[in-house]
Amino acid sequence: MKNSKKLLRITFLLSLILFSCESDIEEGLLETGITSVNELEATLAAEQLGFEGPEVSKVLFGTKIKVVSLGEGNYALGDMILSEDDFDHGDKQNKGVWYKDKKWPDNIIRYRHSSKMPKKTQEKIKSAAKHITDKTNLTIRKWDKTKDKDIGYVWISYKSGCSAQVGYQAKKFPGQKMNISTSCSLGSTIHEFLHAAGVLHEQAHWNRDDYITVNWDNIIKNRQHNFKKYKKEELTTHSDAMDLNSIMMYGSTYFRTDKAKKEGKWSIETIDGKEIIPNRSYMTANDIDVINKVYKKPSFCSASKWSSSKTYSKGEIVSYKGYKYKSRAFIYAVAPDKSWWWEQIEKCN
Ligand SMILES: [Zn+2]
Repeated sequence: MKNSKKLLRITFLLSLILFSCESDIEEGLLETGITSVNELEATLAAEQLGFEGPEVSKVLFGTKIKVVSLGEGNYALGDMILSEDDFDHGDKQNKGVWYKDKKWPDNIIRYRHSSKMPKKTQEKIKSAAKHITDKTNLTIRKWDKTKDKDIGYVWISYKSGCSAQVGYQAKKFPGQKMNISTSCSLGSTIHEFLHAAGVLHEQAHWNRDDYITVNWDNIIKNRQHNFKKYKKEELTTHSDAMDLNSIMMYGSTYFRTDKAKKEGKWSIETIDGKEIIPNRSYMTANDIDVINKVYKKPSFCSASKWSSSKTYSKGEIVSYKGYKYKSRAFIYAVAPDKSWWWEQIEKCN
């Protein structure tokens, strides 16, 4: 008990350092899986693990870029794994943070992993999936062999780093790739799931030069592609303003050269010269907004139907006769439309 209190306090302090001007502090606190500064550093390092391999030139959003060839038609761009289809071919040009044909059908991302995956990593993935599912119109859940036999999924390997393929790749077996090692935090796991959903890094925002300075000289040469920005018409964004606290935003220490590190210089900084500390704990309102812009609310109640034989704890949500209800207390066998104990939240379409 004493220990868990201490853990909570460390988390709290760390969260205060990270998000001192955020109204979402409590939320971040509850959600963050990071419990120490060392762990934060480890997780950020894991996210920056470069892929080894020969560099090749490709065209993405009309711009020539260098990517690392991973073989079998896969290429790495930072922690994003791209396939041949993702690049521009002839007159076909990809548009945006959201590739139009890379949206997951039915607002569902299913995932699978080896049963040998460490339990702690499995739990982390489950929590990340829940965080996104609870807050957006997108559902992320485990692939079910009885229901989902012919449906594509994300195969999560736990061997190294934190990385993911961007958007729906429509492959069935062996699924599209995602890597979540033991050193990825819960926040980095959420970050990778958002790549899988189709989201790029926040520093790609077309308006980013009004918010940050990119110090090209301080960035490792073959990592400069991670700081590319895109044109307005190429992106679906949450707003015209960039969100420095986005879970998809890089920090000032990302991909800087050894020389810059020694001299205390940053790869990117705010326009007024301040350090950018990456949020890797929770999705901001903007992160939620950009997901919901693409994954529109389904035209039915996503909550499960109320059942007279189930008990419900406080805060649980059910659908009943075309409405969504939230329980105000522990409830058993009380129909939602007949009692104050159920709060009507919204009408289902
Ligand atoms: Zn990333």
